Amino acid sequence: MADYMNFLDLEAIASADRAFENKQYNVSTMLYRMAHKKLMKYNGDRMLPIQMAGDVKNKLQRSEMIWTKNPQQTPLTYRTWSLSKTSYVAGKQCLKHLYLDKYKRNERSAPSPATKILWEKGREFENLVRKRMFPNGIDVKDAMASKFNYFSSYTDSALKHFREITLFEASFIEDKILVMVDMLHKDEKGELDLYEIKLHTELTEGILWDLSIQYHVVKKRFGEKIKSFNVVLRRGEEDFEFINVKEDLEKLQEETGNQGFEFIHFLQISSEPDIAMGPHCYLLYSCGFKDYCTRVATLPDYHV
Ligand code: SF4
Repeated sequence: MADYMNFLDLEAIASADRAFENKQYNVSTMLYRMAHKKLMKYNGDRMLPIQMAGDVKNKLQRSEMIWTKNPQQTPLTYRTWSLSKTSYVAGKQCLKHLYLDKYKRNERSAPSPATKILWEKGREFENLVRKRMFPNGIDVKDAMASKFNYFSSYTDSALKHFREITLFEASFIEDKILVMVDMLHKDEKGELDLYEIKLHTELTEGILWDLSIQYHVVKKRFGEKIKSFNVVLRRGEEDFEFINVKEDLEKLQEETGNQGFEFIHFLQISSEPDIAMGPHCYLLYSCGFKDYCTRVATLPDYHV
């Protein structure tokens, strides 16, 4: 691999080019700036990264200049969170899972080949649903070149500036909890339909809690503007059905809100809890820390 490869953020540059073409100058400026900063750290003598730094600098200056004439496009902000949808579901399974997911992520077992195939199928199914339902949707992940800390800021900006819009991976942070919604459609009246896409054919308990924490965060932000909150389930190889579960999620809100708060508090004050393995390791999902927990349980003097 060439010595400069680690200094090229081609994804950011491509996303910035797209944003510039779409007149989203706040986005293009931010991404060109990040890509340029990275290129400037290269101190070798290869011409390609040096030329690219010059090109990106020119694009950055042009984007900045036009952006100053579009003050309604507010700067995107770097945001952090204490709990994600994934960590919330981990906490529902087991507090130790929640703790390990935050502080010992490297101990998670590598996914098996079968799990990888399932993930790939999940991605294909998600793309199929997106294309059929909302072929013109904007993917926040692509638009922001996977810069996760800017997703929620970008989502806010897009919802503010487009009267009607569909976003994939629309991201929101409320009560220090981050959720990313698979598909969100805002209609002309400003009302929202939200969709979570699952490869499953049935609504499981794990999916229900996953939806519940999303609904908790989105409801806090949009309240009565939420028209429907749907889960998309598979029906055969190329078919699917979406079910509005908003009323079911309403019933879980008190528990979800309280637990979200408790999990954040737990992560702030707790050390690794001593929880024995049991049926709960498979209950919502098959926990990725089973190898770790098996290993530490067999150590002669295991103290947490
Ligand atoms: S393997 Fe079981 S005990 Fe260990 S973190 Fe996962 S759910 Fe908890």
